[in-house]
Amino acid sequence: MTKIMHVRDKCIGCNLCAQQSPEKWKMDDNDGKADLINGRDNKGVQTLVIAPDEKPLQQTIAKQCPAKCIHVLEN
Ligand code: SF4
Repeated sequence: MTKIMHVRDKCIGCNLCAQQSPEKWKMDDNDGKADLINGRDNKGVQTLVIAPDEKPLQQTIAKQCPAKCIHVLEN
């Protein structure tokens, strides 16, 4: 299973993820940080299961995220 993990506290709100993948990411108008759309939140760490074909784009975004708060995991 492939998952995106987002450590939300570290997000600096640069908007890169939401621009490149608006189907998975949106910016929160309240605090300016990114949210995983339909993600599960556990104490500020958001996770979302994605399809295998969605992995490459999310890996690219994770590499580009300036806060390094996005991780793409297999488990
Ligand atoms: S790319 Fe990283 S720092 Fe920028 S908004 Fe997305 S999660 Fe936050």
